[in-house]
Amino acid sequence: MRMRLERVRPNIQKRHHDQPMNKGPQLPTKQAQSALPQYPAQTQEVGITLQRGGVCPIMEKGVTLERALELALHSPLSKQTETLHLEAGRGRITAKPLSSKVDDPRFDNSAMDGFAVMASDCVNSGAGLTIVGISQTGGQLPPRIIAGEACRIMTGAPLPEGADAIVMVEDTEVNGDQVTINGPARTGYIRKRAENLSMGQEALPTGTHLSSASIALAGTMGYGEVEVIKKPRIAILSTGDELVQPGTELEPGQIYESNSHALASLVESMGCEAVRHESANDSMDELRNTLDTLSDCDAILTSGGVSMGEWDLVRKIMEEEGDISFWRMKIRPGGPPLFGTWKGTPLFGLPGNPVSSLVVFHVLVAPWIERSLGYHHEMGPRINQKLSVKLEENISGAPEKLCLRRIRIRSENGQLLATTHTHQGSGNMHSLVAHNGLTLLPPDTDGKTGEVIDALWLL
Ligand code: AMP
Ligand code: MG
Repeated sequence: MRMRLERVRPNIQKRHHDQPMNKGPQLPTKQAQSALPQYPAQTQEVGITLQRGGVCPIMEKGVTLERALELALHSPLSKQTETLHLEAGRGRITAKPLSSKVDDPRFDNSAMDGFAVMASDCVNSGAGLTIVGISQTGGQLPPRIIAGEACRIMTGAPLPEGADAIVMVEDTEVNGDQVTINGPARTGYIRKRAENLSMGQEALPTGTHLSSASIALAGTMGYGEVEVIKKPRIAILSTGDELVQPGTELEPGQIYESNSHALASLVESMGCEAVRHESANDSMDELRNTLDTLSDCDAILTSGGVSMGEWDLVRKIMEEEGDISFWRMKIRPGGPPLFGTWKGTPLFGLPGNPVSSLVVFHVLVAPWIERSLGYHHEMGPRINQKLSVKLEENISGAPEKLCLRRIRIRSENGQLLATTHTHQGSGNMHSLVAHNGLTLLPPDTDGKTGEVIDALWLL
């Protein structure tokens, strides 16, 4: 996995907060409010904020996951394409459907090393046939056979005209130009022309993730080059005075920074390029400068600084100088995120709590990337999968919030069962490792033992 560090700050003693927090944003006047664009009826609690040079469009507060995605998709990732040699296509996403340039297989051929025969000659065990030639892969076309004749044949070599069955080499005995047939002559050992794919048949739709198998299929279909989505560059910026990179010495009050590494890995597994930046201090000036530097990327993911706290400066700077379209979501964990644009670049302000930031990536950022770039619903890159699981214990939901509790999903007796193990604190990264899924418990709904509920399986 490639992660690029655009700028690495030396491990200096981190500065402390450089600015007192201003009071919250002022509410605009009544006249200003009436001039604001209206969102559809499902708009929930709507907040209004002052932004760059005046009154901004409405910022919605406390939105559902569906509404959050809808709003974020007003500013999708921009999609560009490029053509790559097949071998460079690994992990990329196709920008065009690929239809086969050939029949696959191209001709009837043998699935076994053995003899091509007429089945009617081999009804009785011990039949003797005359060997009239050999069919080899990549060689001359084999001779036609008639009754009483057999042709040696290799796996994948063309079936001689006249033959309609294959006898495995293990079931034969050769003596000079004679062969004795001691086993069955099977028509099923013939691979029929185009039985896999016909010429012109579309096998890899737009939005396919080029795995090793799909790369091999593109090659089988005759493609030496593939047009793929150019990797969007997604910047990742952790914020917080307390954060230092793992592997260095900790001063009192400092903790190791982990979110940017996890987010970069998720971004890369979705076929995008992660531009991981060194974490920023809780400073308006540093945030502004860093966001400006990162705004030439296709999107920015920040972590931390979006809650209600005095030093939650990502929220403050986005309110005052960016454009926010929503803040806070009705999900647990992961309530505080925001989405907006910074100098025109889409920006997700993810929560700092490690579990929350990854959960919000899974439920919001991943679908936003998928939908922006048009990933195919079955063939596209996946980091999670929706499924139904049977609860083996009671799991409490959350008032008015979609509840995303960590669960461990396992398969037993043809059923997917879910249990919980570690405690569910949103700072407990161990819980995400010890579990492999999330409940999708609707607001105000508890899950009861034995009940089948929707869940996300984290791949
Ligand atoms: P915040 O959202 O900035 O208030 O952060 C919430 C909690 O998450 C705090 O305990 C932070 O120390 C922790 N935190 C924030 N960012 C990170 C990060 N990048 N890696 C690990 N922990 C973090
Ligand atoms: Mg913080």
